[in-house]
Amino acid sequence: MHDQMANGQLSRAEALAFSGYRHACHVMLYSDTKSLLFGRTPIKHVILMQMRFDGLLGFPGGFVNQSQESLEAGLCRELQEELGVALSISEDDHVDARHAPRTAPCSPRLITHFYVKKLTEEQIKEVLGMVRVPLYTTKNGGGLSSFLSHAFIGNARTQLLDSLLRLRLLAPEDLHKALKHSMKTHAHSAGDLQAALALTAAKRDQS
Ligand code: AMP
Ligand code: MN
Repeated sequence: MHDQMANGQLSRAEALAFSGYRHACHVMLYSDTKSLLFGRTPIKHVILMQMRFDGLLGFPGGFVNQSQESLEAGLCRELQEELGVALSISEDDHVDARHAPRTAPCSPRLITHFYVKKLTEEQIKEVLGMVRVPLYTTKNGGGLSSFLSHAFIGNARTQLLDSLLRLRLLAPEDLHKALKHSMKTHAHSAGDLQAALALTAAKRDQS
């Protein structure tokens, strides 16, 4: 499928050729939609992400038990466990794999695989409890830009952005505009955090 992959990306076969690694698989589920936000703004595409147990945004999926199941079977099991839905994900849905940065020198080596799967709008509606990514921009510049300014697990934000461009779900100039606004939002939240930190430091020193 992929002959040569760019900067640190591995094909499915290349990734599986490494021995002594754990593998984790995650998937971006999405669909087209004709529905309108507030009856006027076209939503165009519905993309599902998750608010994870650790408070970070990510895609559904998880660790695969390589001795017992294929990557895709492991991903389907995780989707059943996390979302309660039976979806078939195939090798053709594999986008790329990469080495996850080690969180500690002694932590096991991990390769994360990313899949993309297009569903029907009806199938998307069956998948509850997930976060829908707003691709639109509201009057005050919110929507996609606010969404992108949150914290994401691993390279989930990059996986989302790559998918938006590769699948042409969003024009590059619209994404660029949203990201510029995200930087401002991000700077603003950093300022907020700084103020909150100073406030709690003052309270701590009083007590
Ligand atoms: P999970 O069981 O879903 O937490 O995934 C297993 C491992 O993959 C965890 O160690 C996460 O840190 C990592 N991980 C989860 N999502 C992503 C992602 N989108 N990109 C890179 N690594 C991830
Ligand atoms: Mn998971």
